[in-house]
Amino acid sequence: MELLDDPLRPLRVAVIGAGPSGFYTVEALLKQAERTIAIDLFDRFPTPYGLVRYGVAPDHPSIKAVSRVFEKTLADPRVRFYGHVAYGIDIHHEELKQWYDQIVYAVGAEADRRMGIPGEDTANSLAAPAFVGWYNGHPEFCQLPLDLSCERALVVGNGNVAIDIARMLVSVPEDLARTDIADHALERLRASHIREVILLGRRGPAQAAFTPAELKELGKLRDVEVVVDPRDLNIDSASAVAVETNREAAQNLEALSAYAAHTERTASRRIVLRFLASPKEIIADQGKLAAVVIERNALVPSAGATLQARGTGDQETIQAGLVVRAVGYRSTPIEQVPFDDMRQTLSNVAGRITRPDTGEPIPGEYAVGWAKRGPTGLIGNNKPDAVATVGAMLADLPALQGIAHDRRDPYQVERVLRDRGCALVTSSDWRKLDRYERAQGELQGRPRVKVTTVPEMMKIIRQPERP
Ligand code: NAP
Repeated sequence: MELLDDPLRPLRVAVIGAGPSGFYTVEALLKQAERTIAIDLFDRFPTPYGLVRYGVAPDHPSIKAVSRVFEKTLADPRVRFYGHVAYGIDIHHEELKQWYDQIVYAVGAEADRRMGIPGEDTANSLAAPAFVGWYNGHPEFCQLPLDLSCERALVVGNGNVAIDIARMLVSVPEDLARTDIADHALERLRASHIREVILLGRRGPAQAAFTPAELKELGKLRDVEVVVDPRDLNIDSASAVAVETNREAAQNLEALSAYAAHTERTASRRIVLRFLASPKEIIADQGKLAAVVIERNALVPSAGATLQARGTGDQETIQAGLVVRAVGYRSTPIEQVPFDDMRQTLSNVAGRITRPDTGEPIPGEYAVGWAKRGPTGLIGNNKPDAVATVGAMLADLPALQGIAHDRRDPYQVERVLRDRGCALVTSSDWRKLDRYERAQGELQGRPRVKVTTVPEMMKIIRQPERP
């Protein structure tokens, strides 16, 4: 009998990355009825939930509520969590190939994109992943050098991340104090002088990538007004045609029109939405970010039937002391997994990792989420995406028969990692840290107080818990 026909021999799967796409993959694997299954879920941080913890804005608790579903998945006896284990550093490709029948890379898209303009590396010109990580207590961005002593910030991009950043910069700190925002960020935002954030879209309002709910939410912020120039809403005929078939774009235009019609100015903070302009240069004065030169754009048809921005040569200088570019995320190559430079994702076809030269699938290796399809979509979009990859994994099982062997020892993983000195974090360790954060939060009327450094997390995990 082939190993995979043995009902006592579970299918062993490693999932690399415990963010939303990793969890949805685990969930889909647990739901399938074809095989008994054993899943090891790895993450480089001691904490699971990836973008739900380190990406979703703290004032969006309803989006974070998905972690309750993930908690149940983590408690399933068929799942083991190995946190604080970095793929390519603590654990390697050839080991995973030996220990598991299938590997799923759910490594996301963590890196930033650049604008490629002069002055981009000036102090206080930041990329969205760093800024978002900073206010969310991401261990790598807690020490982000950031100066909030200026009155005006410019956020480049017209996506939901740009909206999140603008909201965080102008929200009344007392309102953020009820959330799980990182303490260091709350403290800095309390002392912030920023009163105006300009959101700069390179294309027009009809092409904005943000969603209507997020746009409308800006209008509900306390002591914040949203400013839109009505002239920006006179869209060109090609955009008008596109809006007719795009419900979200139509709803965005409706919300923008309501903002444009509201001209009473009483709030002390504001978000100004500007369109059809791109930053051309960031200017420093005595080493300090002082202004941004922008160029107005016109929309021109492109090959893909979309309208692209093209500079008109007409420039303007905006005084601003902080620039955050929220122009999208990007995946980066990982150990021994082919990378598609064009798409900037792991090389894959419908979730099957492929050889870039031949396009042939590499047996037993898969991608999900942003690492599979690029950095687009809401958290929930990762669910059908993961279900589709799991469908491919199950369809490929017959082809695994010949290569499955019983060296795939489930106990070996933990032993090898511990022998190697890797301070791995199990799900019960994580639950301890989770209880600690929630208990600290309860004292302050907040959902949790995040622990923001890995050494501190490990200290809490190791110390005896008070009864
Ligand atoms: P996004 O939705 O792809 O938006 C990126 C924005 O950057 C677009 O407006 C894009 O303009 C612009 N851009 C790209 N390169 C540029 C350049 N060189 N100069 C100026 N502008 C440039 O990406 P995102 O905001 O990072 O969000 C990623 C995904 O997460 C999205 O699907 C988003 O909806 C989701 N998300 C959801 C929430 C939520 O539900 N509340 C919160 C955050 C993120 P063009 O359109 O012209 O390319």
